[in-house]
Amino acid sequence: MKRVYLDYSSTTPVDERVVEAMMPYFTEKYGNPTSFYSFGQEAKQAVEEARAKVAELINASPEEIIFTSGGTEACNLAIKGFALKNKKRGKHIVVSKIEHFAVLEACRWLAERGFEVSYLDVDEYGFVEPGTLEQAIREDTILAIVNHANNEIGTIEPIKELAEVAQDRGVAFFSDACISNGSVEIDVEELGVDLLAMSAHKMYGPKGVGALYVAKGTRLEALLHGGGQERKLRSGTENVPGIVGFGRAAEIAKKEMRSEAERLMKLRDELIREVLKIPRTRLNGHPEKRLPGNANFAFAFIEGEGLILELDFEGISASTGSACSSPTLEPSHVLTAIGLSHAEAHGSLRVTLGRFSTREDVKRLLEVLPRVVKRLREISPFKESFEDYVEGTEWKGGEHHHV
Ligand SMILES: *Cc1c(COP(=O)(O)O)cnc(C)c1O
Repeated sequence: MKRVYLDYSSTTPVDERVVEAMMPYFTEKYGNPTSFYSFGQEAKQAVEEARAKVAELINASPEEIIFTSGGTEACNLAIKGFALKNKKRGKHIVVSKIEHFAVLEACRWLAERGFEVSYLDVDEYGFVEPGTLEQAIREDTILAIVNHANNEIGTIEPIKELAEVAQDRGVAFFSDACISNGSVEIDVEELGVDLLAMSAHKMYGPKGVGALYVAKGTRLEALLHGGGQERKLRSGTENVPGIVGFGRAAEIAKKEMRSEAERLMKLRDELIREVLKIPRTRLNGHPEKRLPGNANFAFAFIEGEGLILELDFEGISASTGSACSSPTLEPSHVLTAIGLSHAEAHGSLRVTLGRFSTREDVKRLLEVLPRVVKRLREISPFKESFEDYVEGTEWKGGEHHHV
């Protein structure tokens, strides 16, 4: 059975062109970039070329890119690094409620060490309204944090407007773009952000490498100490093959992003249209202002884990915002933040398409999903209330969003 991979927001396969670029740096050009002799300098040169490519993708200068071990480290460096360096100016941080755990847990770490964290509400689509941010900012606020796009529901935030609010009040702005970088256009100059996190494995690069954009003049405390690599912000011998792969992935994304986004949006909208024909199903997130490959549904009377297992049995990989995917065993904090009840959040399914997704993959899901949903509902403990629906009552769980 051919595997149908519909979980590109968890990770992506490494593009063959990226693998090809990386290979020489394992076996032939394995020098240490810090070494002064030419063999080391060859590796250094490769790292700098990759830096220029990652910078170009987001319209930054190469000096503003700090390579890290991934998105998680980039988020930690942005938040803890900024807070620790700037704490004399204040110890208050504002952050949206729908961030990745890499962001929320870094904030919590700071809150346990004398910082104060305020959490911003989002609307039913997951948007942070600029007015909400404005109200949360105080005299002692030093940092505001909102994800560029949300990795569960795909909502793309109004970052330019939000960063402007922060800037007007002298507050630095950090955006986690791990999930959106490479699939939608990001221009840090245009957005006006001070810090932006990226991850290679969400954009067809290797796992274990990421980067933090640090705008000129933004000062951070290092979290790792040692040889002083990456402008003393991230000590440790550079992951040269990984960084080279990230650079190549950025280069490919820059070239192919537009046409790819168009293709994915078509597939996604077709998928959404068809899935919403299943009774008592709704779309989570905004119909249009979402990542090109993201669709997220809530099915009434279903446990997400059961759905994932049934789909897996049919060879389809997708994910849920339900308990087993979260370290806390709670339903997704993102789905509850946009107003879903625990029961609704437990019945969610995230389908994320990417570079190698085909119309056949979508077709296969559409073949299997209605049948699986029907079967799960038949054995659901909420079956009776579902039968009410069949007789014509409306689902009170929330409105249906049709695209
Ligand atoms: C994947 C992801 C991260 C973490 O990146 P890693 O490279 O896996 O550590 C952080 N934030 C978001 C939004 C992500 O999607």
